[in-house]
Amino acid sequence: MHYTGPVYRHPLEINTPLLEITYGCSWNKCSFCNMYKSVRFNASPLSDIEEDLQEMSEIYPKSLKNIVLVNGDPFVLPSNKLLEISDLIREYFPEVRRLSCQASVRNIKSKSLDELKQLSEAKFNDIYVGLETAYSAALKQMNKRYTREDEYEQLRKIDEAGINYIALLMLGVAGQGNSEASVTETAKLINTYKPRMVSVITTAIAPGTPLMKMVEDGEFVQLTEKEIVEEELMLLEKLDMDDNCYFFG
Ligand code: SF4
Repeated sequence: MHYTGPVYRHPLEINTPLLEITYGCSWNKCSFCNMYKSVRFNASPLSDIEEDLQEMSEIYPKSLKNIVLVNGDPFVLPSNKLLEISDLIREYFPEVRRLSCQASVRNIKSKSLDELKQLSEAKFNDIYVGLETAYSAALKQMNKRYTREDEYEQLRKIDEAGINYIALLMLGVAGQGNSEASVTETAKLINTYKPRMVSVITTAIAPGTPLMKMVEDGEFVQLTEKEIVEEELMLLEKLDMDDNCYFFG
């Protein structure tokens, strides 16, 4: 299999085969992230994808239902390219019913509603959207390069297209003193466009990142472990989920 640089998949996808269609991150500039610094973003050649599908077909049954497309943010690829890849996958695994991948709000924004509907029909579903928070000041400080208004608009589009999503959130991302504001805005967004799952991680200060510099300069104060737990509890209290939504934290 062609795997280039760091490979990430959500822990719940431990048993799902991973097919690389991009590598590196097309943005690679979030303040807290150093994950793909060693890899230059690119799309995998179709010939590599086909070789990997050939290899997968020797391991997995033709009736395979789920595949996770990696790495970075594969949803950045133009819709026609994603549709071409979906067609190719279905030549090897005709019964596949879920092609999942990471997607940023910017990736969704670059696609029209009509394109998203075509991607939904082509089995793109359960996309992992790295929202982090809906608190505008934190989105700006973390250099996500999209706004809360973008989050509402893009989640509305995938909802209308029939694509389920998984909300990836970061506890402590707004820094000390801003937990309530961050959680309140985030819960409002999530309660409006309900995901299949809410998954939280804790904001870490990675070496060499702009966030580390902000900490050193006193522009960002990391939450204590107790404050992180309090923020998570506050989030759980404010979320209004139905029985089909899971919380992974
Ligand atoms: S957090 Fe995600 S979108 Fe941001 S730089 Fe890292 S991999 Fe790219």
